Amino acid sequence: MAMPALDAEKLKENALTSIRLGIEDFQRSRLAPEQNGDPARALSAIRNLFAGVLLLFKYKIATSVDDPEDATTLIFNPPEVLPQSDGNGGVEWQPVGKFKRTTIDVATIKKRFEGFAIEMDWATIDKLQECRNHLEHLHPANTLGEVADFVAELFPILRDFVQTQMNEQPAELLGAAWLIMLEHHTFFMDTKVECVTAWKEAGVPDLMQHWLDECQCEDCSSSLLRPHAEDIENGISVEGHDDAFRYVCVACSHSDLIGPLMIKNLDDAYDYDPRDGEEPGIETCNECERDTFIIGEQHCLWCEAELVYTECDLCGEALRQDDQFNDGLCGYHHHVHEKMMRDD
Ligand SMILES: [Zn+2]
Ligand SMILES: [Zn+2]
Ligand SMILES: [Zn+2]
Repeated sequence: MAMPALDAEKLKENALTSIRLGIEDFQRSRLAPEQNGDPARALSAIRNLFAGVLLLFKYKIATSVDDPEDATTLIFNPPEVLPQSDGNGGVEWQPVGKFKRTTIDVATIKKRFEGFAIEMDWATIDKLQECRNHLEHLHPANTLGEVADFVAELFPILRDFVQTQMNEQPAELLGAAWLIMLEHHTFFMDTKVECVTAWKEAGVPDLMQHWLDECQCEDCSSSLLRPHAEDIENGISVEGHDDAFRYVCVACSHSDLIGPLMIKNLDDAYDYDPRDGEEPGIETCNECERDTFIIGEQHCLWCEAELVYTECDLCGEALRQDDQFNDGLCGYHHHVHEKMMRDD
C-alpha cells in the first residue's frame, strides 16, 4: 500500500521551530507599541505553541516503534474500515482506500499515547486546547492575560515531556525560548502565591473561595488578581462590603469589584435553560439577599444560612426557602392541612 512519507527528525525540528516562534510571538504581544510590541501576536503565540506541542507528541509516537513504515501508520490518519459481504452470508471488515495525507488530531494522539503507555496530563492539554479555541473568537487586547496563563500552564507539561519522554534537556532543545518560558513561569507562580496570600486578609466567605479562584480580569482575562491595597488598608471585607471591595489585575492594572465577579462565576456555573425544562440551581438568599443560595444543598455560600425545615414531615420531599413558613410541610401538604382545619 502506498503511504505518505514520514521523517521523524523533521517532525521534531518543526515542533521546536513552532515552539520558538510561539515564544517570540508571546514576547512581542507583551511589549508596548513603541518597543515594537504587537498585541495581535497573542493569538499566533497560542497557535504556534499548541501546534508545536502536538508535533512533539507525534514525534514521540513516531519514535516509539523501530520500523519507519510502522511509524507512518501511527501518525497519518488510517483508511476507514467498513463492513462488506463475504459472499457467504457473513461479514468482513476491510480498510477502504489508503492512508490519508492528514495527520492525527488531539483525540487520536490521546488514543496512541494510551496504546503505547505514554503518560500525559490530558486535563491540562484539554484546558489549553479549549483556551486556544476560545481565544480565536476574542479581540487580542482582551486575551493578553489569558495568553500569559496559557504559557505558564504549558511550561511544566513541556518540561516533563522533554525530560522524561524524550530524555533531553529543554534548555538545550529550545535555547533562549526556554529561558523566557522559565522566567515567565517563575514570575507567574510567585505572583500567584502572593495573590492567594493577600486574599487571605480580605475576608472572603469560606464557601465562596472556589469562586474567587475562578475569577479572571474583566479586561484581559488574567487569573492574577490581588485585593486592592486601599480596601485592605481601610479594613473592609469582601464578605461585608461586596459593593465596595475591589480587585486589581496584576497583568493590566484593571480594577473592579470582586464580589459580583465571584457571584457571576457561581451563577454561570449553575446556568440553566428553562426551555429544556431545567430548573434553576441557585436563588436569592432570604438572609443576605445575594444570589448565592444553592437550592440542592439547602444553604447559602455567602452567609452560610441554612434551612430550619429541610424536608416535609409527611412526604419527605426536600423543602426550599419558600416552604419555611409552612411549619415543616411541603406546599402541597401545607395546603391539604389548611383545608382540613377550615373544613373542621
Ligand atoms: Zn487584566
Ligand atoms: Zn446568604
Ligand atoms: Zn409533603
